[in-house]
Amino acid sequence: MLQLPCPYCGPRDELEFSCGGEAHISRPLANNKISDAAFGEYLFLRDNPKGVFLERWRHASGCRRWFNVVRDTVSHDILEVYAMGSKPRRTAGKKAYNNSWRRTTAAEAAAVNK
Ligand SMILES: [Zn+2]
Repeated sequence: MLQLPCPYCGPRDELEFSCGGEAHISRPLANNKISDAAFGEYLFLRDNPKGVFLERWRHASGCRRWFNVVRDTVSHDILEVYAMGSKPRRTAGKKAYNNSWRRTTAAEAAAVNK
């Protein structure tokens, strides 16, 4: 069974957590116009890589707080745990974040005030 290190409670069994899927998906702001295709890409497309992946997890049966995890989907190794709203600091997580196709999408550009 997978053990996840909750940053607030310490290591716990996977059964106490719920996975929220891919991390770092920015919602486009309503006042920023993007095409229907770009909005559909934001809404429906999710990565499912073989290797390092950035995920959101919630300690549902514990503190109920959300946090981000850098996990290798092949070995299930937890490479880093970090707070919501921040970015990975270690090399593998940084590389996965920076190399994600999302960093260059219209939806991501429309997620900030212009
Ligand atoms: Zn917790």
